[in-house]
Amino acid sequence: MKLQSDFLVIGSGIAGLSFALQAAAHGSVAVVTKRDITESATNYAQGGIATVSSAEDTFDAHVQDTLVAGAGICHEDVVRMVVEEGPKVIENLIDWGVQFTKSGEVFDLTREGGHSARRILHAEDITGREIERALVAAARAHKNITIYENHIAIDLVTEAKLTKTSLEEDRCLGAHVLDMASGVVKTFRSRFTLLASGGAGKVYLYTCNPDVATGDGVAMAYRAGATIANMEFMQFHPTTLYHANARSFLISEAVRGEGAILRRRDGTAFMERYHPLKDLAPRDIVARAIDNEMKTYGDDCVYLDITHQDPAYITSRFPNIYQTCLEFGIDMTKDMIPVVPAAHYLCGGVSVDFNAETDVKHLYAIGEVAFTGLHGGNRLASNSLLEAAVYAGRAYRHAVEALKEAPAAPLDIPAWDAGTATNSDEMVVVSQNWDEIRRFMWNYVGIVRTDKRLDRAMRRIDLIQEEIEEYYWNFIITSDLIELRNIATVAKLIVSCAKQRKESRGLHYNIDYPTVDDANWKRDTFIKKRF
Ligand SMILES: Cc1cc2nc3c(=O)[nH]c(=O)nc-3n(C[C@H](O)[C@H](O)[C@H](O)COP(=O)(O)OP(=O)(O)OC[C@H]3O[C@@H](n4cnc5c(N)ncnc54)[C@H](O)[C@@H]3O)c2cc1C
Repeated sequence: MKLQSDFLVIGSGIAGLSFALQAAAHGSVAVVTKRDITESATNYAQGGIATVSSAEDTFDAHVQDTLVAGAGICHEDVVRMVVEEGPKVIENLIDWGVQFTKSGEVFDLTREGGHSARRILHAEDITGREIERALVAAARAHKNITIYENHIAIDLVTEAKLTKTSLEEDRCLGAHVLDMASGVVKTFRSRFTLLASGGAGKVYLYTCNPDVATGDGVAMAYRAGATIANMEFMQFHPTTLYHANARSFLISEAVRGEGAILRRRDGTAFMERYHPLKDLAPRDIVARAIDNEMKTYGDDCVYLDITHQDPAYITSRFPNIYQTCLEFGIDMTKDMIPVVPAAHYLCGGVSVDFNAETDVKHLYAIGEVAFTGLHGGNRLASNSLLEAAVYAGRAYRHAVEALKEAPAAPLDIPAWDAGTATNSDEMVVVSQNWDEIRRFMWNYVGIVRTDKRLDRAMRRIDLIQEEIEEYYWNFIITSDLIELRNIATVAKLIVSCAKQRKESRGLHYNIDYPTVDDANWKRDTFIKKRF
């Protein structure tokens, strides 16, 4: 089946939907999304979205905080642009119906680690859910937007791939997409394709990301020949709820912003030994400190203590966190919350320019899938929703300008060829490889790395990739297989970038090179497929 639109959007989080809502004023938009439309990291964001909106704050201060968190390799021009465009995109979100929490007539601003001022707009502690709610409602109501749920993009189609030639400048023509309900692979043709497929936390055993975060966009872009950058910088959120039955529930940094203290089992506070900002130190420092405390004392977790705050304030400021903890028998107004670090945010991704365009023409990437240069070696809390919204506007403006140009000669995209593929009788291969990748990524390529661990991980990935490739072409394609192939590719990209960087900086910590090496490594790492 072949479908045609002006814009193809892959992903329905803040990035994809903000773009779709703007582009829809100029043409037809197809949004494909691999589960229900709301299932996205956006929907789980708690803390909020950073932007300068008070008289006590300045753009310079926000820029400075972002640069400090980024450990010397943020692109300063990008940081300034994103910070300065922030207030405008917040207006867009409000126009689409997002209701941020107010204190009287003004927005209630909270503070998070690494921010020198209160500048985080939030909707109680379910900011992402509120953003997603409003954007989904607006997108569903728009006549130019067609939404395809339970449709998983398999691969991008490019001119070079179609014509089987090597082109100086390749262009994207659309994507092959599996309709998960019918098992039919559909061909989506488009003049512009936007990757807004989010992050890759599922590459790791422990993550606070939803199941959809399997790095599909990064893997597809890599296979299509786009440049990928800085994959070694995976942010581990320091505080995910530690409970046998709690699946990836995050205890927002805002809890520390409101005074919570990290303690060991015996009640000893420890962050003052690691950083002058103590519990509000940047996330990489806090995650490593917790990892070190757990390893030193043989504990399975550490504890977050906000019991000294007024209970009424805690329950009104963090209703969702309070309620969820309570369901697991933890009353955060009286009990310390057990927490562990977990994979949270991918700072690297598909390399894009100021307009979110990749080095494959007509292919854009925005949101967590993209590498813009904003985050450098470490993301400042609440800058990611902001980045996604800002780049949605930039990609939209650029694509709409390009839409005025005469369309390039259309190429017919052949339908998906399943060849002689048969139904697999051994799904265990998928689950075995899936578990193996996530476990060795956690153990060898996690918060603390060594050269030896990276080499071990690489050897295992090579073996697993061989097995997956063989499996991939022999059996009828399923979403599990697509995701497995993608997490293997993303794992390899993370290890490849980590092996390149012979220093420790920001989120990348290698015991064999424990210090920052500005002379050689004050720069990004890049990787591109050779055809
Ligand atoms: C628990 C949690 C809390 C967070 N809190 C904050 C916060 O307070 N502030 C902040 O700034 N950031 C926060 N973040 C990070 C932030 O939520 C994400 O970076 C941001 O939402 C990413 O938006 P996105 O649109 O790029 O991707 P997502 O919101 O993840 O959306 C990706 C979309 O792509 C779809 N998709 C993926 N692959 C395919 C495919 N192959 N085919 C079709 N569809 C596909 C998914 O189904 C999904 O719809 C948090 C993240 C988590 C997990």
